Amino acid sequence: MSDNKDLYRDNGQTGSLLDEMSLDNKNLQNIGVEILPVHTGGTVHAKRMPGKFRTIKWITASFWIALFVFPYLRWDGHQALLFDLANRQFHIFGITILPQDIWMLAMILLFFSLLLAASTAVAGRMWCGYFCFHTVWTDVFTWIEEKLEGQPNKRIKLDESKMSLGKLKIKLPKFIAWGLIGFLTAFSFVAYFTDAFDLWARLFSFEWGSTETTVILVLTASTFFFAGILREQTCIGFCPYARIQGAMIDTQTVVPTYDNDRGEPRGRMKRAKPGEEAPDLGDCIDCNLCVAVCPTGVDIRRGQQFGCITCGLCIDACDSVMDKIKKPRGLIRYASLAEFAGQKLPPLFKRPRVIVYTAIMSFAAIMMVYGLLTMSPIDLKALHERSPLFVQMSDGNIQNKWTVKVVNKSNEVMLANVTVTGPEGLTFVADKQITIQPGNVGATTLFVRIPKKNLTDTSTPVVIHVQDINNEQISASYETAFLSPKKR
Ligand code: SF4
Ligand code: SF4
Repeated sequence: MSDNKDLYRDNGQTGSLLDEMSLDNKNLQNIGVEILPVHTGGTVHAKRMPGKFRTIKWITASFWIALFVFPYLRWDGHQALLFDLANRQFHIFGITILPQDIWMLAMILLFFSLLLAASTAVAGRMWCGYFCFHTVWTDVFTWIEEKLEGQPNKRIKLDESKMSLGKLKIKLPKFIAWGLIGFLTAFSFVAYFTDAFDLWARLFSFEWGSTETTVILVLTASTFFFAGILREQTCIGFCPYARIQGAMIDTQTVVPTYDNDRGEPRGRMKRAKPGEEAPDLGDCIDCNLCVAVCPTGVDIRRGQQFGCITCGLCIDACDSVMDKIKKPRGLIRYASLAEFAGQKLPPLFKRPRVIVYTAIMSFAAIMMVYGLLTMSPIDLKALHERSPLFVQMSDGNIQNKWTVKVVNKSNEVMLANVTVTGPEGLTFVADKQITIQPGNVGATTLFVRIPKKNLTDTSTPVVIHVQDINNEQISASYETAFLSPKKR
């Protein structure tokens, strides 16, 4: 591979339009029908065409179906995924996460943000190109637009035409469809914070609360606006990830790249006139199809650009052109700058960024697993009375007092029995049983007495035990110190 110094320069060429092309080649005539004006400076109307990356895009986009389905899944008779903010509890497939376990959610966030950074270091903005909810929703919205309004050239003409009843008739079904998707998106989002079935029931009886109504209206409108109206402008102008991704990639990151050496000088395929030498052209026939399919209106032949979301659709487009003109595929391909500079790409496990990101991700994953494995359905805390620390009884006993707090993290009502073990002669008084509702805290006052003669030190270990009478598997212990005066 030759040194490709010009790979990231702007060569000033933007691609010719259909009427500038010479279609004297049979293969090119087939391509010619696909060539479209790119965009008018306003909304990008990208052409859709089949291909490997288009298929991958649909597959990855389909993961988002889960957003609409999960609120209806049940687990042990409860909503499987419920972020119950009012009661400060998160229910995740039978596991209840209370505020004191929130560190686990922090680990989940750390894991996914590092996963995003690691994937960006390896393959650029693959999150944007294949998974991002904005990109996916825009893709679905423009698919609907194409079905209702036709191919890009038709849509551009429609956009440019004056408002009329006819235009409104064409546009209205699209807006209704977008609005419905926006509403379903907003509704599904809110259904993670309240019972989904109950939310539907309350919709039809007009019993939504003001918060639910506001969130659903705002989210419906913003989905419509960002995915339907703003589209690629959201990625370019609003998305913070687009701004920081430059710091995450390096010369070893593979992104869709135009092979400048192979493609240039680009130009129309022409039959040489008798006696003339055929022009020495590169493989790019300047058909503009790679630009026409780009959802952000980027011309990848100008090099890596801010607007490129690495969706690979231009690769599909160019490969189809190469097939037709019988040239090898890959004029535009996923490649790194290092590869074009003739360097060998080191394996993933030898790249410093990947190593660092993976190490932090592994830490977060281990902590999450540890948290899940050690998570008990019961949490016990005992607060020792500070004033006084102990009481000397007239019968020779020393008394200590605790406030015992029991957190019920299970989904069932708990009947907790409190007992204490320690030195010989220990007696205790407590509410024998505390009834605790799921996700709630129950408390009792505990008095422990030990004969002074049995205490050898000012601090003697005792253990407070709590047992759920309804479920013998659920219990907890708390080690604490029984305090007494110095012996004279
Ligand atoms: S330039 Fe290619 S990879 Fe980048 S956004 Fe456009 S179509 Fe997708
Ligand atoms: S890079 Fe490929 S798709 Fe783009 S103009 Fe050249 S030949 Fe056409």
